[in-house]
Amino acid sequence: METTFEIVVIGSGPGGYVAAIRASQLGYKVALVENYSTLGGTCTNVGCIPTKALLDSTEHYHTAKTKFETHGIKVGELSLDFEQLINRKGDVVKQNISGLNYLMNKNKIEVITGTASFLSNTQIKVTATDGTETNVSSTYFIIATGSKPATIPGVVIDKARIITSTEALSLPEKPKSIAIIGGGVIGVEMASIYARIGVEVTIIEYADSLIPTMDRDLGKELKKLFTKSGIKVLLSHKVQSAVNNGGSATLKFLDAADQQQELTTDYCLVAVGRRPYTDGLGLDNTNIQLDSKGRITTDETLKTSEENIYAIGDVIAGPMLAHKAEEEGVFVAERINGQKPHINYKLIPGVVYTWPEVASVGYTEEELKKQNIEYKVGKFPFSASARARAAMEKEGFAKVLTEPKYGEILGVHVIGPRAADLIAQGVIAMEYEVTDEDMFRISYAHPTYSEALKEAYLISSGQGSLNI
Ligand code: FAD
Ligand code: NAD
Repeated sequence: METTFEIVVIGSGPGGYVAAIRASQLGYKVALVENYSTLGGTCTNVGCIPTKALLDSTEHYHTAKTKFETHGIKVGELSLDFEQLINRKGDVVKQNISGLNYLMNKNKIEVITGTASFLSNTQIKVTATDGTETNVSSTYFIIATGSKPATIPGVVIDKARIITSTEALSLPEKPKSIAIIGGGVIGVEMASIYARIGVEVTIIEYADSLIPTMDRDLGKELKKLFTKSGIKVLLSHKVQSAVNNGGSATLKFLDAADQQQELTTDYCLVAVGRRPYTDGLGLDNTNIQLDSKGRITTDETLKTSEENIYAIGDVIAGPMLAHKAEEEGVFVAERINGQKPHINYKLIPGVVYTWPEVASVGYTEEELKKQNIEYKVGKFPFSASARARAAMEKEGFAKVLTEPKYGEILGVHVIGPRAADLIAQGVIAMEYEVTDEDMFRISYAHPTYSEALKEAYLISSGQGSLNI
């Protein structure tokens, strides 16, 4: 094996593998070090991909159960094969991993399996699972070691009854009940997966809204839809402890009126955020600094305090999202190459893959109010969309926030069918600074969900809805 490279990337998640591919495309001799037995990091193995596989499977089941009859489809008695649900998810993950292996070969990237630890700013030691150590030198390093689940005081994750999203993706059998601490992105996606297959789900959230960092209207609508679907949503509740009783877990928490409450369920899923991961990385042997949240400190070019070491993805500041990590991977490879790439951090979309989906880009209404920025609102419900009515997908709305004088688009927020894909339109509009008028004067295919956005722009501009 070669032990001297021009660029060594540590961590093979979406930040790391994308950085390695871009660096190789630019002609560098690249190695990718990963301590896990498969490539792809959190996203491919225990994050984006397996959750979306389970979300899709359970949504099919739920649609068959709740909507097929109205569509005139009779399929006899419906049943769920939980083992197959989990197995298919595993197959989807495997397909993605084999795609990554192919890409590493194609781009002539040397994959080194083991844990990387800095010996100096130009050399790491890679320790394999059998204890074998190899020293690897490089001109540049890119740290992309990602994040791990966090917890709260009083709650010790034992991975048996008090679990993280990783265990929740591979439960041995369908539980009867699950309590979820945290109504953020993981909490609501996991709640959807389990509630759709008949598990009793309770979300206990500290804030006064679900998905509290997104535009408040979205969390409000999601809570309404969740409650209607049978998910119990407890807001402004503070968890104090969680205990494994053997066959179940008991949570103690204070309710909104500060009264002590208790809940016993089969599992307690802890989804209160993730922490940057730098354990065992040997940062003490470099000048690299961490901030108060344990994230690697970088400058605006994503360079650490070492001239030749960069950091990207969940291990640095910013939203913990796969596409943010990917953008940063490309950015750093191009920076090293002397190019002048740019990332617009204000326009990284956020998507929640519940059904209906939730998607957002730009300012929220709360942020605009706080910053005293004047705005107009255009909001159009999917219940008034012909496409949504045809599909029986009438829940949610498209909401745009625009600047009153020139119609510049300040924020786009959608809860509705295929919101995850619709939001790309908002990102393009905001990146190229077009106006609400530009957006409603272009042709939208009829009937489509995208027309809800056209209607929202018509409303925000004061033109008035055409209700198509
Ligand atoms: P990671 O993907 O965490 O990869 C880091 C890799 O580095 C890991 O494989 C780790 O084993 C390795 N590593 C760590 N230390 C070392 C070392 N010393 N030596 C060698 N290797 C090391 N984001 C989205 O955008 N969309 C989604 O739908 C989405 N869904 C998610 C669902 C769940 C349940 C979770 C948990 C996360 C989800 N995310 C999603 C977030 C997304 O997974 C992360 O933002 C993304 O994976 C971060 O990429 P990364 O490259 O920074 O790190
Ligand atoms: P999060 O930050 O989205 O949500 C955590 C939630 O826990 C917050 O709503 C917070 O108010 C709540 N909370 C914190 N302390 C609490 C307490 N003591 N009691 C009750 N609630 C408490 O974090 P997450 O859902 O764990 O997800 C971690 C990361 O993974 C996020 O940064 C997210 O971006 C990423 N992720 C993204 C996707 C996606 O893009 N679709 C999916 C899953 C995860």
